[in-house]
Amino acid sequence: MEKTIDEKLQGTTLNVATRKENTRNLFIESYGCAMNFADSEVVASILANEGFNTTHVLEDADLVLVNTCSIRDKAEQTIRKRLTEYNKVKKSRPHLKVGVLGCMAERLKDKLLDEEKIVDMVVGPDAYKDLPNLIKEVDSGRDAVNVILSKDETYGDIAPVRLNTNGVTAFVSITRGCDNMCTFCVVPFTRGRERSRDPQSVLAEVNELWEKGFKEITLLGQNVDSYLWYGGGLKKNFENASDMQKATAINFSKLLEMVALAQPKMRIRFSTSNPQDMTLDVIKTMAKYKNICNHIHLPVQSGSNRILKEMNRLHTIEEYFELIDNIRELIPDCAISQDIISGFPTETEEDHAATLKALEYVKYDFGYMYAYSERPGTLAGRKMEDDVPEATKKRRLSEIIALQREHCQFRTEKHVGKIQEVLIEGTSKKSEKEWRGRNSQSTVVVFPKEHYKVGNFVNVKIHDCTSATLKGTAVGYSENN
Ligand code: SAM
Repeated sequence: MEKTIDEKLQGTTLNVATRKENTRNLFIESYGCAMNFADSEVVASILANEGFNTTHVLEDADLVLVNTCSIRDKAEQTIRKRLTEYNKVKKSRPHLKVGVLGCMAERLKDKLLDEEKIVDMVVGPDAYKDLPNLIKEVDSGRDAVNVILSKDETYGDIAPVRLNTNGVTAFVSITRGCDNMCTFCVVPFTRGRERSRDPQSVLAEVNELWEKGFKEITLLGQNVDSYLWYGGGLKKNFENASDMQKATAINFSKLLEMVALAQPKMRIRFSTSNPQDMTLDVIKTMAKYKNICNHIHLPVQSGSNRILKEMNRLHTIEEYFELIDNIRELIPDCAISQDIISGFPTETEEDHAATLKALEYVKYDFGYMYAYSERPGTLAGRKMEDDVPEATKKRRLSEIIALQREHCQFRTEKHVGKIQEVLIEGTSKKSEKEWRGRNSQSTVVVFPKEHYKVGNFVNVKIHDCTSATLKGTAVGYSENN
């Protein structure tokens, strides 16, 4: 299953090919959303030019960087434990420097550097180009910090090195920051205001990935449907743009079309879509181009209009259902996945029942479900009491997960008996003899390897399933090869 926060990937160390001339070792570990993993690739690319090779052995490192997540308290606690472990290594490697990147850097800079003194360097998500200077600072024995949030940084001019890659799928960032101000969410505070990346640099990266043999890309952003390029700058300043800038601006459906046309054999995915910003044009563009995959990750968060309002989600559940109906009409076999939060402040049993009803309405293919975690600084954190008891949050969450599991089964069963195009990503986790890939809907498919290779598009006859995986047999290469 594709995940916004993939628990299995959390804490992955990233490794790239070594350069002979580089003399120092970078150990870079990533937590959180796909954007963090993509950012770590930008960081490794910058540091490869500064004399660093990557290593996955902590004890060999000269510099440890941890790309952090603040979305829930649990994520921060996990990273704090890791910081203690890095510091233990410092005892036998006194020259080792430890740096915190990403969302926690932005949120906890003073605490980590001055109060607890557990890191040497703190670098916010918009300051990675300053890393060469910051490393010089720490080399000369001083702490270094840059958490300035930018109005225009998109790292569009940096070709990210691909870390721990399967050589088949890659992320391409298209927006940074978020303007939505959902009351539960820390992202606007840690990643700043929303800005979009120059479409030409997006296309250049996609074309380069194709040249290197990649077969699938995921366009990434906190809210990709809000993409708007009008020559650079914050989305909120678009109203001050010139008439010419407004007339030539490029929105998400246009960008999607440009990417689909640039590489007609490349699979294109995108994440995440905020329902309030997803337009019919985007759905029509998906329907028009075969290489845009039939999957939309469309977080709903709650099925209750009252809670949606408290969350500052700028749509009602009826509007959300209308969007779902439009998707089903224009792309009948489109997979839809969700994010849901249980136990948001003031949530009643009635609100919870409305969430279960929403699940029943959509019957999502899969989803990511969380108990509400109060985040300091957010609007809900400041203005609302975290008043749903932990046990109630957990019980509601398990009811949501149980129902979702039934729907996962319902959806995977619908693939059985069909022949579907699968892009091979690697060996199955359960059997050396089987390939693992995904169909257009992003459901995992496993099948016997035969003569096929990683990166091949293969037609697979699906004959069985679990709630998360399809099982099949290859019937030949697809026409996409
Ligand atoms: N930008 C996307 C959106 O809002 O639709 C996704 C943002 S977030 C990185 C991924 C998911 O984490 C959210 O959709 C939400 O379900 C969950 N999340 C965010 N803040 C949370 C909180 N304070 N407690 C629990 N879950 C949270």
